[in-house]
Amino acid sequence: MSRKVLVIGEVREGALRNVSFEAIAAAKTMSDGGEIVGVLCGSDDLTEMGKELVYYGADRVVTVQSDQLKSYTSEGYSQALMAVIDDEKPEGIVMGHTAIGKDVTPKLASKIETGLISDAVDIEETGENIVFTRPIYSGKAFEKKIITDGLIFATIRPNNIKALDRDESRSGEVTAKEVDIKDLRTVIKDIIRKTSEGVDLSEANVIIAGGRGVKSEDGFKPLEELAEVLGGAVGASRGACDAEYCDYSLQIGQTGKVVTPDLYIACGISGAIQHLAGMSNSKVIVAINKDPEANIFNVADYGIVGDLFDVVPKLTEEIKQIKV
Ligand code: FAD
Repeated sequence: MSRKVLVIGEVREGALRNVSFEAIAAAKTMSDGGEIVGVLCGSDDLTEMGKELVYYGADRVVTVQSDQLKSYTSEGYSQALMAVIDDEKPEGIVMGHTAIGKDVTPKLASKIETGLISDAVDIEETGENIVFTRPIYSGKAFEKKIITDGLIFATIRPNNIKALDRDESRSGEVTAKEVDIKDLRTVIKDIIRKTSEGVDLSEANVIIAGGRGVKSEDGFKPLEELAEVLGGAVGASRGACDAEYCDYSLQIGQTGKVVTPDLYIACGISGAIQHLAGMSNSKVIVAINKDPEANIFNVADYGIVGDLFDVVPKLTEEIKQIKV
């Protein structure tokens, strides 16, 4: 049965987040040939980004531009998105399981009075049903879920569903919708980021993570150098964050970020279950630890027993040589 599916794209610091394209690929499966409508909210002109969603598979795009949408607030975004949902009357909605996705989608689902399947890592069509796979018990098991009646609403975990190929020959309308956003009880005055430049951890293809074994703030330097040669991001265990070697925004795990890069290099991390909850679905895991009994080796594809301060700089040098 074909469905019209709304894809809620995400703009961050003037650029579309990759998960927006992955959500279009998910929408293709959900739509079964039905129309895919992208939606973008923000305070700047979103036309070019709208076109980008079309190149990645959207049939057309609706943008909502307002000064009130300069920074994300759940009230502002839910008003804008509800206005589009009321207009479009989609039979499916999909968005990234990002900080914004996690916040706004339950609010929308309760307004529409529908269910929500959150944090899907896979999606398939089996006859009549769209089946979503999502991790449970901190990633130790997976469940398959379907929505049997009404609108299908889901969020997808970044880096799990492959985006469609970009095709500049595709064309589709990008239209602006006026929405009168009112009664905002929260106004964001300023955003001060603790982590600045570099690759976004939740969308990075390569992550070099440090644990308590890095021993100090300076101990992260070799990891940063390795991340730089690999074009990756630096992450951390809670042990390293608690010890004040790095900021909590780098924390990966049950109470931190959930990541699924192509390559995860864990340096001086013991592999506590709460850490594994955030990274065990990485495609290739390399562990560097001086304790051969460390639990991290149980989930690693490749293990190096050794001192990270010897191993990591050698890896960096080797990779530099390969790249020359
Ligand atoms: P440790 O367990 O101390 O391990 C350090 C490792 O470094 C050891 O294996 C050691 O052999 C190795 N090492 C030391 N020196 C070197 C060296 N020179 N070279 C190589 N290896 C070396 N943790 C998270 O990470 N993320 C979470 O989201 C999270 N959420 C939690 C939620 C709850 C409710 C609770 C109770 C705990 C949570 N934790 C979380 C904490 C978790 O239980 C562990 O305490 C934490 O992950 C340990 O961090 P670590 O591996 O860096 O430190």
